[in-house]
Amino acid sequence: MSADVIIPASLLPRDGRFGSGPSKVRQAQVDAVAAGGRSLLGTSHRKPPVKALVGSVREGLAEFFRIPDGYEVILGNGGSTAFWDAATFSLVRERAAHGVFGEFGAKFAASTAGAPFLASSLVTEVPAGQVCLPDVAPTADVFAWPHNETSTGAAAPVRRIGDPGSLVVIDGTSAAGGLDVDISQTDVYYFAPQKNFGADGGLWLAVLSPAAIERIELLAASGRWIPPFLSLKLALDNSRANQTLNTPAVASLILLANQIEWLNAHGGLAWATNRTSQSASHLYGWAQANPAATPFVENPSWRSNVVGTIDIDESIDAVQITKILRSNGVVDIDPYRKLGRNQLRVAMFPSVDPSDVALLTQAIDFVIERVAG
Ligand SMILES: *Cc1c(COP(=O)(O)O)cnc(C)c1O
Repeated sequence: MSADVIIPASLLPRDGRFGSGPSKVRQAQVDAVAAGGRSLLGTSHRKPPVKALVGSVREGLAEFFRIPDGYEVILGNGGSTAFWDAATFSLVRERAAHGVFGEFGAKFAASTAGAPFLASSLVTEVPAGQVCLPDVAPTADVFAWPHNETSTGAAAPVRRIGDPGSLVVIDGTSAAGGLDVDISQTDVYYFAPQKNFGADGGLWLAVLSPAAIERIELLAASGRWIPPFLSLKLALDNSRANQTLNTPAVASLILLANQIEWLNAHGGLAWATNRTSQSASHLYGWAQANPAATPFVENPSWRSNVVGTIDIDESIDAVQITKILRSNGVVDIDPYRKLGRNQLRVAMFPSVDPSDVALLTQAIDFVIERVAG
């Protein structure tokens, strides 16, 4: 049985976690949770110790993203999925325009399209593996697209489009922390901590421009009914006090704070993007040299440095490869379920050591040789 294939230890990554979210958590993060045990876990999120922790997350992210004057970092509960609905209520004045090139971009577009108080959303869409920005329509006041489409492994440019007065709202969920970004080109750059930041799911974070803050204030005062849990005005007010509207997962905040500290101590965004680009050159270089593997994203400039998707020749069952790897401790390199391709998907977030990506490719080669026979 090929499920019994034993991969030699010399070909195995030292850490076998390559999932695109939840993603690898470094041991130092786990240790920080244990160390923070007495003073943070089990204590009130309205009191100084946890508020200082939230403050360190907000300040650490401001430093990491080199945010321009007037920009603010806010946070709330519910993850990026909750943020889509919050944005629908608190950022879109009349109409949103979306660039859709995969599952995550499509989900946000579906959220605004379903809102009875908004004009019908405009959607620019291209097939999986490509990227597109929304068409610039003068009636749209929010332009939204993902920086990195986790379901396909394609990364899009992030730059201002649309009239002044409209907002550029970027889903940075799997990009933030691992792909370069000029925050001044965005009004809202939002993400969740279970990808590049190696924490647990359940939170969302967003970097807001002064124009985005103004829009939030305007819609909060407009008389539109906004469910409190999805009000970015309430999130903003709470965040400014280093709190969240309702109780956050304190352990996840500790994981996140530790990762931000680690990234900033090593050189911040420049260091992180250098690391993910090293990993990506191992992965794509291997795929291009291997006749059984092909990068799914054809255009090299769209290939993501944080989530790599590699198609496997139809004569070899990729599911079989992932099963064997899993039994050898290498996990979560399955493709996005709805993409339905014979594919491997590898997360290369900063926590993943580039040398482990190189070892992973050797392990895959070993398995391919065994199952292709
Ligand atoms: C993971 C992911 C999401 C969903 O994040 P949740 O926190 O699980 O809601 C949204 N967008 C992108 C691009 C993602 O990678």
